[in-house]
Amino acid sequence: MSAKIIDGKGIAAIIKDELKVKVAEMIEAGNRPTLAVVLIGDDPASQVYVKHKKRACDYVGIESVAHELPSATKEADVLALVQQLNEDSNINGILVQLPLPEHIDEDKVILAIDPSKDVDGFHPISVGNLSIGHKGFVSCTPAGIIELLKRSDVEMTGVEAVIVGRSNIVGKPVSMLLTRENATVTITHSRTKDLQEVCKRADILVVAIGREKFVDSSFVKPGAAIIDVGINRSADGKLCGDVDYEDCLEIAGAITPVPGGVGPMTIAMLMSNCTTAAEQQK
Ligand code: NDP
Repeated sequence: MSAKIIDGKGIAAIIKDELKVKVAEMIEAGNRPTLAVVLIGDDPASQVYVKHKKRACDYVGIESVAHELPSATKEADVLALVQQLNEDSNINGILVQLPLPEHIDEDKVILAIDPSKDVDGFHPISVGNLSIGHKGFVSCTPAGIIELLKRSDVEMTGVEAVIVGRSNIVGKPVSMLLTRENATVTITHSRTKDLQEVCKRADILVVAIGREKFVDSSFVKPGAAIIDVGINRSADGKLCGDVDYEDCLEIAGAITPVPGGVGPMTIAMLMSNCTTAAEQQK
């Protein structure tokens, strides 16, 4: 039997429609969520991401305020802008598009964002809240993965979840969220021994390594749900994931495609975090 396709694009569209209704009510009540987007430099991928985020804001009804700065902008000026946005009561969420030009310290900039406006969930206070189970913003890709699993009726309680990749933006937060959902979690990385065998234990397999089609059917337990976070550009110019989708289709119980899986959820969850920020700051 072929795997159920987890339609991230469709689920993200449903979430944005739900938020659109909520935001319309908030606007009625005089509390329109507003997101400040800071883009520094001319990285083409960042420009595309920012364009998609703005389009999503327009659709949902969130106001977006763009701050586009040249790549030579001094670190001190970026920090001053973040401070100004922190103090501006009309701004509910602040997003600084990463990566930043090399001369600007990303950690310093993230640390400067007021945690109550940290809709990307990268501030150490947000990460700390997640790890101790307190309320706070959860970064968008990991939050999107959990939402995908929930809305696809994938059982998380008591199951074995294996995560491949231990980055701060995907692997680690996903491991904390899956633990919160009562899965038994194993986190793996480039030094893991017998990776294939470890992955084969997984009822839920989350792959976030950035290696084109690295995980094939030999890593997969029959019936497992596979979440492919990877975004890679193959030799023929097409986008593909870290999982060999075609090869895993028969063995998996459910699988996300690339594109159209995790990617759209990241933006939907950003919209959700902005809406929450506006509600909380009211
Ligand atoms: P990082 O490069 O920060 O981390 C990669 C992780 O994968 C590391 O922990 C590394 O291990 C591990 N790894 C690398 N090679 C192997 C291997 N052969 N076997 C096992 N583990 C391995 O990547 P990110 O987490 O930032 O991103 C991962 C992928 O997800 C990328 O393709 C990225 O583009 C995509 N992505 C997609 C998003 C979306 O919205 N869909 C959002 C964010 C990322 P070690 O720590 O030992 O070096």
